[in-house]
Amino acid sequence: MYIGRTFGNRSGRDRALPLIRHMAKRPTTCSHLDGIRDVTPSARGCEECLKIGSRWVHLRVCRTCGHVGCCDDSPNRHATKHFRATGHPIIEGYDPPEGWGWCYVDEVFFDLSDRPTPQDGPIPRFY
Ligand SMILES: [Zn+2]
Ligand SMILES: [Zn+2]
Ligand SMILES: [Zn+2]
Repeated sequence: MYIGRTFGNRSGRDRALPLIRHMAKRPTTCSHLDGIRDVTPSARGCEECLKIGSRWVHLRVCRTCGHVGCCDDSPNRHATKHFRATGHPIIEGYDPPEGWGWCYVDEVFFDLSDRPTPQDGPIPRFY
């Protein structure tokens, strides 16, 4: 039986997020990639929001120390505050692990799909 080319050439790479392909077109000049560590998430949700009873939109995990904070669309922007307070440059999208990273210093996205941080149990979502 003949299988047409149209159906025969799908590779695993096609599963990559369209977002990542878009990002890959940008030049990635980040000197911090060597500092990315395998971390243990500090909390099942934004650490600070859980303490004060606030909500978040998306989560970011710090790939230097494992701090979990909320994104810039969230009311409290704890991930950015964590960077300002500590200088830890690399975060990862974390709700669920999305396979991309961001460097605050160089302001570049990059692919982390080969070493995402696993979620430590169920994480509440508000939106
Ligand atoms: Zn960087
Ligand atoms: Zn927060
Ligand atoms: Zn950190």
